[in-house]
Amino acid sequence: MNFLKKRLFAFAGAFICSVCTGFSVSSALELDLTCKVIVVGDAGTGKTSIIKKATQGEFLLEERPTIGVDIASLTIKTSSEKNVKLQIWDTAGQERFRSISTSYIRGSAATLFVFDCNNLDSAANLQQYWFEHVRQHLDEDCIFVIVANKFDLLQNYDVLTPVFERLEGSLRDIKPGAKIKCFEVSACFGLNIDALFEDIAEALVNSPPVYSFGVLAPRAPEKTQSKCSC
Ligand code: GDP
Ligand code: MG
Repeated sequence: MNFLKKRLFAFAGAFICSVCTGFSVSSALELDLTCKVIVVGDAGTGKTSIIKKATQGEFLLEERPTIGVDIASLTIKTSSEKNVKLQIWDTAGQERFRSISTSYIRGSAATLFVFDCNNLDSAANLQQYWFEHVRQHLDEDCIFVIVANKFDLLQNYDVLTPVFERLEGSLRDIKPGAKIKCFEVSACFGLNIDALFEDIAEALVNSPPVYSFGVLAPRAPEKTQSKCSC
């Protein structure tokens, strides 16, 4: 019952957030950080819908496959008053053929792995294919976000926790020390969509990636321990 209450609050929160869009700011601002964000996962899981909802506030029941790479921008003011511009790259439908190019993947500061929480095959495919495919070309400090979309259609909430745990464990196996977050969202209802990108912006400001542009100083590369005893 408490669980259900939590969900209802989350839905109510999402509605209030989408009405009060004070957190996102317009682009005519001085930017502190600009980062590339990529979105991968099976076709039909709602990647384009999530991006559209976040950047244009709209949702289409019949989303058409993108032609060419589509890059949408979202500028967010973080709690520390930094303006972070996320350049969110959408696939051009290549995910149908499992042929996402390396130039799409390279240089991304955050990667969203999207599955449809009503189609657990799409979660299994993250584990069996997408994690490994993307990992080979990613920078060390890329943030990983596992996103369960179409939460509005979910009948049995209990299935999600073990799926998140399995996916997170699998990501940790192939990328030890990775920064991993999990979100349940609905592009259709706008549930958690703002929170998802705000969270990414906060994490990027707190730990600016090597591949970023802006006035925030990038982190110095970690020193490797000297084998010399002197
Ligand atoms: P993509 O291939 O991963 O980019 O997926 P699309 O964004 O094109 O979405 C595929 C289908 O799922 C479309 O018919 C969308 O309207 C639908 N869809 C996307 N997100 C949601 C959601 O949160 N809830 C529901 N009910 N349908 C969704
Ligand atoms: Mg798409």
